[in-house]
Amino acid sequence: MGMKIRIVGGVTGGASAAARLRRLDESADIVIFERGEHVSYSNCSLPYFLSRTVPDSGSLLMVTPERFRRQYNIEVRTQNEVLAIDRAAKTIRVKRLADGGEYEEPYDKLILAPGAAPLRPRSIEGVDGENVFTIRDVRDIERLDDYLTAHDVREVAVVGGGFIGCETAENLVESGRQVTLVEAADQIMTPFDFDMAQILEKEMMDHGVSLAIGDGVKRIGADSLTLASGRTVKAGAVVLAIGNRPETELAKAAGLEIGSLGGIRVNHNYRTADPDIYAVGDAIEVCHRLTRQWTRLALAWPAQMQGRAAADHIMGIAHRPKGVIGSSVLRIFDLYAASTGLTERAARAAGIACDAVYVIPADKVSLMPDSAPIHLKLVYETPTGRLLGAQAIGRDAADRRIDVVAALLSMDGTLEDLKETELCYAPVVSTAKDAVHMAALVALNLLDGRFRQVPVSKVRELVESGACIVDVREPGEYAAGHLKNAVNVPLSQLRERMEEIPRDRPVYLHCRSSQRSYNAIMALQQHGFNNVRNIAGSYLGICLYEYAQDVLGGREKIVTAYNFN
Ligand SMILES: Cc1cc2nc3c(=O)[nH]c(=O)nc-3n(C[C@H](O)[C@H](O)[C@H](O)COP(=O)(O)OP(=O)(O)OC[C@H]3O[C@@H](n4cnc5c(N)ncnc54)[C@H](O)[C@@H]3O)c2cc1C
Repeated sequence: MGMKIRIVGGVTGGASAAARLRRLDESADIVIFERGEHVSYSNCSLPYFLSRTVPDSGSLLMVTPERFRRQYNIEVRTQNEVLAIDRAAKTIRVKRLADGGEYEEPYDKLILAPGAAPLRPRSIEGVDGENVFTIRDVRDIERLDDYLTAHDVREVAVVGGGFIGCETAENLVESGRQVTLVEAADQIMTPFDFDMAQILEKEMMDHGVSLAIGDGVKRIGADSLTLASGRTVKAGAVVLAIGNRPETELAKAAGLEIGSLGGIRVNHNYRTADPDIYAVGDAIEVCHRLTRQWTRLALAWPAQMQGRAAADHIMGIAHRPKGVIGSSVLRIFDLYAASTGLTERAARAAGIACDAVYVIPADKVSLMPDSAPIHLKLVYETPTGRLLGAQAIGRDAADRRIDVVAALLSMDGTLEDLKETELCYAPVVSTAKDAVHMAALVALNLLDGRFRQVPVSKVRELVESGACIVDVREPGEYAAGHLKNAVNVPLSQLRERMEEIPRDRPVYLHCRSSQRSYNAIMALQQHGFNNVRNIAGSYLGICLYEYAQDVLGGREKIVTAYNFN
């Protein structure tokens, strides 16, 4: 027998490490310990069982213990919980959950891949009720589904507007239930800036999800929950998806270092301070490539790659990871939403001087029947033009745009690099100058001082303060809906009507998506208008930015009619 390698946790990070170890060393003696009933299941697909997109829960299981044994000669012990590590003796104590028996198991190398446990805050009254659920493994989703069916639950509250909360809400709606999504922060989906999150909130509302934003849960009862604001939400079951806590008890008790964010501290080879113990996945802290600060990133790609890297290092292959950037995507009903790197909010919080552009080009040549707007926000450092992050939301291929930026982020790319990236094109998949190029070009124009802009978030203030706003769309578009005090000077008439535009005060221009208004600004500037600014996102962006806040906040509209096309 070769080296004794013991792995705690048999899902994403643990299973990846085990498989890589076997490929590198036929003689290694590899055992996976898993507390749960299953190993190597698709956690990411769990919510899709609720809608039967995944028709049966059994198909969530990717590799069975039997297949691990036959295909990889790896022993898997499910329902075996590792209780403690004795670093001096190089043993772990394991409990067989079936009969309660305990035993010692020696190791040469130990990999910790215990993941993170969903939060269940004690501060919420009724949090231990039989109708309160969290989602982490196959049993969890089966329990939730069984409960909803057995009690014929029609109304469900999902608490937490992150990935798991949003995906759960979507799948519950698809299963025919009424869903309220409760989020304590001022927006859902924090990998997106507030302006972009408004698009996602509207999509939720359009599909019948009732939103309670900026409101926490105080009390959960049998058929309702009470929010911090006093609002009561009818719900026969509650799914808590409010984040997770790294499972660090084993590491902590063994004297391994725990970081300030609560994750296990490891080096660039995912080794702890103990040369024989590694840790990977949701349980660890990692270095953020852009901020150079510690962070936690509970996603499948890092867990898999870290598991593989730890296995490599045990077998003598060193890694030099560059730090994480945090790339993710989700589908919310008819929209795909992807992001990478830092949001504008996160970049500013990290003290990085930055700016952002928001463009809404068509995702394909507009002649194509399924062409639709793609909303793309690009964040970059000033004055260097170094790329910091991007967010894209659209009906198709938002992830492809973000993958391009992600690839450049991992090479310290700049706006210039993005502009020069030669991408494939056919009218059925994109436009010759793709959305990412347009964002880079707009950003370079801004960076070079060729024009100035204001974000959609400032428009309400402009309208309410009586600022001069010029709408350069055609009269028909203006008539169908416009900003309350905007004047209409179509781009097609601009050169004849320039004298209507004041020179003695700031003028804010917009069109539908900021392309025509940018053209207008360039023309005006060449005619001596020095105080003109483009409204990033223009009328489409403004309507999307305002809608959810207007509906949820009951506030007065600044547009005569919303227009989302
Ligand atoms: C519902 C859901 C949807 C998700 N969707 C996505 C997505 O779309 N994209 C994405 O990138 N990520 C997604 N994730 C996150 C992703 O699944 C995790 O980041 C990843 O699984 C983490 O891998 P891990 O190995 O660290 O932990 P896990 O995969 O959680 O595995 C840890 C395992 O260790 C076991 N364990 C813990 N302690 C012990 C012990 N003492 N003894 C024995 N066993 C122990 C646990 O039972 C658990 O099975 C999703 C997660 C969930 C729950």
